[in-house]
Amino acid sequence: MSTPDAGLFDKIVNLSKRRGIVYPSAEIYGGFRSTYDYGPIGVLMLRNVKDAWWRSMVQMRQDVVGLDASILSPPAIWEASGHLSNFSDPLVDCRNCGARHREDKLKKPDQCPTCGVSGQLTEARQFNLMFKTAAGPVEGTGAEVFLRPETAQGMFINYANVQYTSRKKPPFGIAQIGKSFRNEITPGNFVFRTREFEQMEMEYFVPPEDSAQWYEYWCETRMQWYMDHGMSADLLRLRQHEEDELSHYASATADVEFLFPWGWDELEGISNRGDFDLTQHAKASGAKLEFYDQVSKERYTPHVIEPAAGATRTMMAFLMAAYDEEQVNDDTRTVLRLHHRIAPYKVAVLPLSKKPELSGPATELANQLSGTWMCDYDQTQAIGKRYRRQDEIGTPFCVTYDFDTLDDQAVTIRERDSMEQVRVPLTEVHAWLAQRLSA
Ligand code: ATP
Repeated sequence: MSTPDAGLFDKIVNLSKRRGIVYPSAEIYGGFRSTYDYGPIGVLMLRNVKDAWWRSMVQMRQDVVGLDASILSPPAIWEASGHLSNFSDPLVDCRNCGARHREDKLKKPDQCPTCGVSGQLTEARQFNLMFKTAAGPVEGTGAEVFLRPETAQGMFINYANVQYTSRKKPPFGIAQIGKSFRNEITPGNFVFRTREFEQMEMEYFVPPEDSAQWYEYWCETRMQWYMDHGMSADLLRLRQHEEDELSHYASATADVEFLFPWGWDELEGISNRGDFDLTQHAKASGAKLEFYDQVSKERYTPHVIEPAAGATRTMMAFLMAAYDEEQVNDDTRTVLRLHHRIAPYKVAVLPLSKKPELSGPATELANQLSGTWMCDYDQTQAIGKRYRRQDEIGTPFCVTYDFDTLDDQAVTIRERDSMEQVRVPLTEVHAWLAQRLSA
């Protein structure tokens, strides 16, 4: 059984800053609390997390199609979905220091985590988490719009459009990746909880009688996805919600949890939402959001199974799961043992010397490999240091172009985890990498 590694948190935050994975936002203006910018390495990794999800959830399935819905949305959607009245967290104020906290996340029920004083917290009041703004040049009721707090409603309101245009029959799903916004009372733990974040959600529409079976299927499939992408099983668990934790419309919900440095916490929620969403939107809009089965001549409102994951939060979990330090001779090697699909760069080309006879053809090789993969090129510093720099950002393979290459037309390829090196003819480098990076 694994235990949380408390020291890991600072190591990940430091590595992120130092190597351009994630920076605190608006730093030159003194920072803007709990917002983050993804740097040159982070943007690659975040894209890879989203691409890996899309590949498994859309590309490799015939029963799921994609969508990219708008972020700005009229109040009618959130009225029907229940978010206007219910999407809130219990907020308490500290009379002593003025800090605000989420009551359900307090470690000690009546103690302010900021100043440590007990007995000074106010009664909880419900604080709606949606960001409201105004669309167009006039302000006022007619112009009120919301930034979506989840991507899911885009799939529900487009159910009929998508079902009709894609000619899909239940069971089928609609998937979307995109930004969501929540005015969290207490954002924190680096990118774990932020006010602006990215989600990867899929709504899977099924015949009502099959919903329990599909719920099981998606719980298993989603757990497996994290393991297939390199997270070890002892850092993951599936926690079924207790009866009193369930939303009134959900018949079952489970969280995929990861062992973060502060303990087990949610990566993804999988929920059997019944026909709640389609029924609500049908009622509020007057649209027919049903399915007519030509064979059985039956008309029904599909039930929905929803696997809802956070892309930014999942990226952070991948960083934590992959981080390793090992002793190599007198040196500590920091290595991100990332699955190749998640790794920012797949390969780096490193000429042994800056001399033009090596750097020229090495650049050519890097350019050629860049047509297929993100390929880094680095000709500064000693080769050992360059390997370490690539290890630290999880590059699976380094290709070294040396003086022998000029004679034998072969290069050395070094594997990140084992540090083993093999000599591969230049003409075979692409195929060699392709074989190892396609699995
Ligand atoms: P919590 O209870 O932690 O506030 P939630 O259960 O309301 O979160 P969902 O609405 O189920 O979260 O959202 C699905 C996923 O979106 C979460 O599992 C998480 O990965 C991600 N997510 C939700 N809120 C945030 C946030 N503020 N910052 C980053 N990711 C988030």
